[in-house]
Amino acid sequence: MTDSRSAELFARAQQVTPGGVNSPVRAFNSVGGTPRFIASAKGAHLRDVDGNDLVDLIGSWGPMLLGHAHPEVIDAITRTAANGTSFGAPTEAEVDLAAAIVERTPIEQVRLVNSGTEATMSVLRLARGATGRDLIVKFAGCYHGHADSLLAEAGSGVATLSLPGTPGVTAGTAADTIVVPYNDREAVTAVFAERGDQVACVITEAAPGNMGVVPPGEVDGEGFNAFLLRTCHEHGALLISDEVMTGFRVTRTGHFGIDGVVPDLMTFGKVMGGGFPAAAFGGRADLMQHLAPVGGVYQAGTLSGNPVATTAGLTTLRLATPEVYDHIGRAADVLRSAVTEAFDAAGLPHVIQSDGTLFSVFLTPEHITAVPDYATAQLTDTAAYAAFFHGMLDRGVHLPPSAYEAWFLSAAHDEAALDRITAALPAAARDAAAARQAQWAATASH
Ligand code: PLP
Repeated sequence: MTDSRSAELFARAQQVTPGGVNSPVRAFNSVGGTPRFIASAKGAHLRDVDGNDLVDLIGSWGPMLLGHAHPEVIDAITRTAANGTSFGAPTEAEVDLAAAIVERTPIEQVRLVNSGTEATMSVLRLARGATGRDLIVKFAGCYHGHADSLLAEAGSGVATLSLPGTPGVTAGTAADTIVVPYNDREAVTAVFAERGDQVACVITEAAPGNMGVVPPGEVDGEGFNAFLLRTCHEHGALLISDEVMTGFRVTRTGHFGIDGVVPDLMTFGKVMGGGFPAAAFGGRADLMQHLAPVGGVYQAGTLSGNPVATTAGLTTLRLATPEVYDHIGRAADVLRSAVTEAFDAAGLPHVIQSDGTLFSVFLTPEHITAVPDYATAQLTDTAAYAAFFHGMLDRGVHLPPSAYEAWFLSAAHDEAALDRITAALPAAARDAAAARQAQWAATASH
């Protein structure tokens, strides 16, 4: 498989863009090699600029629930674009998309924005404005976008690049964010015991997917999200559930459809933008009424509710029928079994964790049987993952270029696509096992 045109473009890109990419994980830093520049995509397939056909498991990091270039989505956005691409005035499609989100989730009102980062940044301001408090609590390994106050011990690209902290975030901002281990109830209780009257909100991924998939744990029948809601309310704080990744992906409603916990505020993105820059935050009407123009918390956007993005999102949500989720669920089952079989055969210890149709694979040390938090996720063997990633890529399957990401399936992953993936797994697993052995040998000889 040649990558010469991608390599040429990557070299050119590095001249004009830091690292040659517009979002860090795309650069392949943690897996090495040349990122594939994509020329086109259809269904479950990417075609790179060298003409290689790749089965796609990135799915644009979540949005492409229906697969790439779904004909009905393309038709809808083409017709919309022909009528004008941005007005700076309200449109009917914005009302329809907001209503579609409200209908599928427990929120009462929603505001449309342009990215998940903007959604979480705005919802924090709202939580602070509504409570009159400054502190936020987040969990290590949860990624909520790149707003200053949310970058502390973030997952996703921050984890992939092993960045300890981010220069450019002021000490004051960092001091307003308290980071606790995920699934650690004692740590949460301790924070609230000490500073509960200053905490505006706890923000959590509804089920983390940015340190690999880490489901919320249950203790005595109470799920972690229910525990967080109870604890927040005991102290006059708000619970924000970030469903940018899980929303409309892990189930038709998101993770809310699994544990039914009704948070005060929620954020959405990815699937609801249908592959365009659209995201949202919403929640209880009494809280949302703090937003301008009704209330004093300012939030705005030139392109918010953009007609093309809104149409893509709305069409995607309309086409995301229960059958779509059944299909993706079955495909996930097939892949989970195939990964287990291939990794067991190669003698590679691993843990697979799921949240609805979303799952990820951790190449953990032998004694690990579950990954409840970021510290455990970080035990994953990133060198072995890099070998596995390239083993799959060489065989025509594009996994996420990071050991900390979920594998994103779509309604377009048909039997042929799944066959390509399962056929590639055994040899790629052997590549990973060989990389691990080489590492052990190198360590032993030192
Ligand atoms: N929140 C979660 C849970 C995410 O997974 C992401 C992105 O991966 C974000 C927020 C940020 O979204 P965006 O990349 O659109 O800014």
